[in-house]
Amino acid sequence: MPATIDLKNTQTRDALAIRAKAANPQHSDLKPTLIGMDREELGDALKAVGIAERQIRMRTQQLWHWLYVRGVSNFDEMLNVSKDLRALLSQHYTIARPEIVDEQISSDGTRKWLLRFPPRGAGNPVEIETVYIPEDGRGTLCISSQVGCTLTCTFCHTGTQKLVRNLTSEEIISQLLLARERLGDFPEKDTPQGAIVPSEGRKITNIVMMGMGEPLYNFENVKKALLIASDNEGLSLSKRRITLSTSGVVPEIYRTGEEIGVMLAISLHAVRDELRDELVPINRKYPIAQLLQACRDYPGLSNARRITFEYVMLKGVNDSLEDARDLVRLLKGIPAKINLIPFNPWPGSRYECSDWEHIKTFADFVNHAGYASPIRTPRGSDILAACGQLKSESERLRKTERLALEAMMIAGHGET
Ligand code: SAH
Ligand code: SF4
Repeated sequence: MPATIDLKNTQTRDALAIRAKAANPQHSDLKPTLIGMDREELGDALKAVGIAERQIRMRTQQLWHWLYVRGVSNFDEMLNVSKDLRALLSQHYTIARPEIVDEQISSDGTRKWLLRFPPRGAGNPVEIETVYIPEDGRGTLCISSQVGCTLTCTFCHTGTQKLVRNLTSEEIISQLLLARERLGDFPEKDTPQGAIVPSEGRKITNIVMMGMGEPLYNFENVKKALLIASDNEGLSLSKRRITLSTSGVVPEIYRTGEEIGVMLAISLHAVRDELRDELVPINRKYPIAQLLQACRDYPGLSNARRITFEYVMLKGVNDSLEDARDLVRLLKGIPAKINLIPFNPWPGSRYECSDWEHIKTFADFVNHAGYASPIRTPRGSDILAACGQLKSESERLRKTERLALEAMMIAGHGET
């Protein structure tokens, strides 16, 4: 049996989104941030304000602990750092969080934050969305890597928005810091033995680079942020619990394996180049055969470290049994899991989601061929937090669009 989920019970059509506004007075702080630097850069930042060379290693370690184990956002909370040094640091740098413009909580527990980063370093202020998805025994944070996207996948709402800019490593890792803070997911204190980094009971156990943007078109910043997230003297997320999703930027898939070493998800969505060229236009540059070769070559690939293939179910487009058969043939020899994603509609989109029966038949076929083929339940659809629905504040839905979308979603649910 495939691990399917009953959409009827988990949909949230009559959900009430709870909105909360939380002001963060520190957001206007335009000093350079210490968040998102690797240890060497942090050391250089300390040197730059006159900290003696012989102290740099120790001070870097101290700061790293406060920033990433204890998750403080104010220098004054760094209790074992002298008052003078705290004052010196806050005179030159900031460690403030972004402003929370909007926080919405879905009836299914999914949370979506709209965050505003001040124009620090990288130019313009930006607004981005981050989504937290609680599930039994785990919690996943879906992180954005860009504002908008240069790619134009035809079924993706983000793809209709021009790239505004790449996020900095600060902006990427701050999404995790902010979510942990809002969820009360940082330890309150240290023990005499040192940091408390509980391996159990954490609210955020996994992160996925599946928010807005193509992470491999922002490789350096994503790399830096993910190495901070997985640093075991800091945020300590296992690399097996970090998944990077890409539409298929082949050269950077090799680099991801070599330089970051996180789990890989591929947005496949079609089994023939002709159709994939249309749905995921980067396929024209890196066609399916090249993409799958990069997957076969991914370091550490094994049954325990399978590649996830994402496959959006588009009615009458890519959902036939023949497609399922070709999919199985194509992935032969690659340890893989196939996530079937019911298409999430958005106003103006040219596709419909496949019928439930179709999705189930497709899933059963793939599953019988030996691949796990879970059907991804749309989460947080009442707050537009599902895959492909994220957009920045500058392009948020007008009320009429929102109503049209709600009507589409309710009509869609009637069929399932
Ligand atoms: N740019 C990256 C990561 C972000 S998208 C990528 O393309 O992989 C995360 C996943 O959501 C991708 O698999 C994407 O194809 C899928 N997606 C985008 N729009 C969607 C929609 N409207 N319905 C369902 N899935 C969608
Ligand atoms: Fe960009 Fe991914 Fe959307 Fe394609 S699916 S437009 S790569 S965010």
